[in-house]
Amino acid sequence: MSRGIEAFIAGLPKAELHVHHVGSASPRVVAALAARYEGRTAVPADPEALAEYFTFTDFAHFIQVYLSVVDLIRDAEDVRALTYGVAEDMARQQIRYAELTVTPYSSVRRGIPDVAFMEAIEDARKSAERDFGVVLRWCFDIPGEAGLASAEETARLALDVGADGLVSFGLGGPEIGVPRPQFKPYFDRARAAGLHSVPHAGESTGPETIWDALRSLGAERIGHGTQAVKDPALMDHLGEHRIPLEVCPTSNLATRVVERIEEHPIRQMVDAGLLVTVNSDDPPMFGTDLNTEYAVAAKLLGLDTAGVAGLARNAVEASFLDQGGKAKLTGEIDAYLAAWDRT
Ligand SMILES: [Zn+2]
Repeated sequence: MSRGIEAFIAGLPKAELHVHHVGSASPRVVAALAARYEGRTAVPADPEALAEYFTFTDFAHFIQVYLSVVDLIRDAEDVRALTYGVAEDMARQQIRYAELTVTPYSSVRRGIPDVAFMEAIEDARKSAERDFGVVLRWCFDIPGEAGLASAEETARLALDVGADGLVSFGLGGPEIGVPRPQFKPYFDRARAAGLHSVPHAGESTGPETIWDALRSLGAERIGHGTQAVKDPALMDHLGEHRIPLEVCPTSNLATRVVERIEEHPIRQMVDAGLLVTVNSDDPPMFGTDLNTEYAVAAKLLGLDTAGVAGLARNAVEASFLDQGGKAKLTGEIDAYLAAWDRT
């Protein structure tokens, strides 16, 4: 029987903090949706053709493919099936808790009524917890490329319509040409309503974007933060304030944020004492999953089982679970490590 690090990771209870709703749709889910809309979508319904379709050349291409999958989410039943299917895939990887980034603006703009959208994700959340033991929470994010109108609408959807599982407010999409500070008023409102601030920053643009996210948007965690290592003062700040980074190694490779995985700066982040979490971002689109990302990180960082368990604990610490939930999940991680070491 294999006792390798992959086997350890496969059974390790985990939390995931940076993973996108539509971007988590597995080929199985996407194929089913594409088949439903055959003749009315460019997305192939055949899983093998899908894999080819999902092979990226650059960040702009990724956004283009991502948006074409967004286009398959056309009614509330699509939303419910997608969300439930994503949770099912998480359960298979022993993900116990996930903060799933949802972009309700995209679906509502396409004609899904806002209340029906919220009911669909909430129904899936409750079913997933009951059926798979996966606890889901939502981050509603502004699709930055859609501009300030999308920010206004996302704030309305978060604050006026709302969903019981909503814990945070985010900002995704491309960074180039989409300055973070313009979104300050919307983050101010979300934070005043008790939502946590978790914008993407420093993925495809430099450390100044991370400073903007911290100063203008009150970021409590940084989505990616890959470029932070280029600014020693920023690294000090992130370490001092224990602001977690949501690191997504394979995503950074797929979108050419790094040219080779060996060049990923995760090691510098860990060596600087930052609170590093490992995440999958848009896993099937990048040909990965959270377990694979843990294996990639373990290799880059030279971790043994205790080290990998430490990464899992980091994600729990950086999550927006309450103290009881954190203690429970950390206890599961510790028990799993202890049992592994005994056998
Ligand atoms: Zn992301």
